[in-house]
Amino acid sequence: MLKFREALEIILKHTNILGKEKVFITDALNKVLAEDILADRDNPPADNSGMDGFAVRYEDIKGASEDNPKVLKIVGEAKAGGDSVKIGKGEACYIYTGGLIPEGADTVVQKELTKVEGDKVYIYKELKKGANVRRQGEDYKKGEVLIKKGKKIRPAEMGVLASVNKASVYVYQSPKVCILTTGDEIVDVGESITSPSQVRTSNTYSIYGQVLEAGGIPIIGGFVKDNPKDIEEKLLNARNSDILITSGGVSMGKYDLVRDFVQKVLDVEIVFWKVAQKPGKPVVFGVWGENKEKLFFGLPGNPVASMVVFENFVKPVIRKMRGEEKVFNPIIKAKLKTNYKRKKAERLEFVRVYVEYKDGEFLATPFGKQGSNILTGMVYANGLALIEVGEYEKKEGDEVEVIIFDKDFLDRTDFS
Ligand code: AMP
Ligand code: MG
Repeated sequence: MLKFREALEIILKHTNILGKEKVFITDALNKVLAEDILADRDNPPADNSGMDGFAVRYEDIKGASEDNPKVLKIVGEAKAGGDSVKIGKGEACYIYTGGLIPEGADTVVQKELTKVEGDKVYIYKELKKGANVRRQGEDYKKGEVLIKKGKKIRPAEMGVLASVNKASVYVYQSPKVCILTTGDEIVDVGESITSPSQVRTSNTYSIYGQVLEAGGIPIIGGFVKDNPKDIEEKLLNARNSDILITSGGVSMGKYDLVRDFVQKVLDVEIVFWKVAQKPGKPVVFGVWGENKEKLFFGLPGNPVASMVVFENFVKPVIRKMRGEEKVFNPIIKAKLKTNYKRKKAERLEFVRVYVEYKDGEFLATPFGKQGSNILTGMVYANGLALIEVGEYEKKEGDEVEVIIFDKDFLDRTDFS
């Protein structure tokens, strides 16, 4: 059976970055730049003041001290957004933060080092020539690349976009992900349940959230009964999407029709079926579309399997399609807080764990019930500990690798 890491490599080999689209700056957060951002002018655009005080000529304040203040004549005012002014020998002018340095001036003395009497200002300290002056172009020069293509847009990048007058910007498109939920037993939220054999869908909405979290655009393509006519009809809903995800119907059962019908209806070419992993063994991966640029994932119906396969296989795909450079969830090393044992060791297992940071190390506690149908284990967990092929047992205190799927975990952990 195909190994997990081989499967991941195959999937990413078939994944291409999508085309560009132009978005308003206010819609650009978390998107990835598809163009370099250049400075439209120098910043600062001209020499200006970093302080409130007086603009002076260095020559005129040389030797100033508490006992020997220099006296200058106040001839004007330079405020942020004001016109540029001029001073001559023996003269000073009021200046405020952001005010243009007057012609003739080269230094700003902060207000605290001065005293005003009528139209005279006393300067009590010699400063270095150029003190408190923000130089033209000291941040950046016109034409300089300020943000490179491929960078993910955070609030800081939004600010820079605005400062260089980019009201809209090219970013990579986000993949449209069609979610088709299969199963005769499946009932949507809000529908009434009349029999104990019916199952309220969780997968539709956990997948929906995972698509959003990865930066994709989820589209609920419908609920499909396990019969040919229904499958054929609803599969057509996926035609305009970049990724088709089906939930359920990929195992060995008589009613697992998904694999056959995606081939028949959407001309999906199946690349692999089944991966040596637990949970999520029956996953199907395929490619379709004119140039086989669209992807198909048949996720297993078991709720944990669905989520785990999505984290490991689909999230990196969505991130890559939307131009992100880092596509994988972070992996950390943690110490197990309890023993973990299993009877078979043929598959790579993802164990739901809760990771915490204590006294300089990560500690991972496995959830008590690891069944792939037990979704509350995913509510408890923030990570998936890897138990490798051939490993039957891990002891308390052993180190394990943990994939962190809770995106706030590393940001919000107190590492002090
Ligand atoms: P399947 O992969 O279709 O054989 O389904 C495997 C198990 O997952 C069955 O017990 C299903 O009832 C359950 N299941 C399938 N789809 C969903 C869903 N959308 N939400 C919750 N459980 C599901
Ligand atoms: Mg089913």
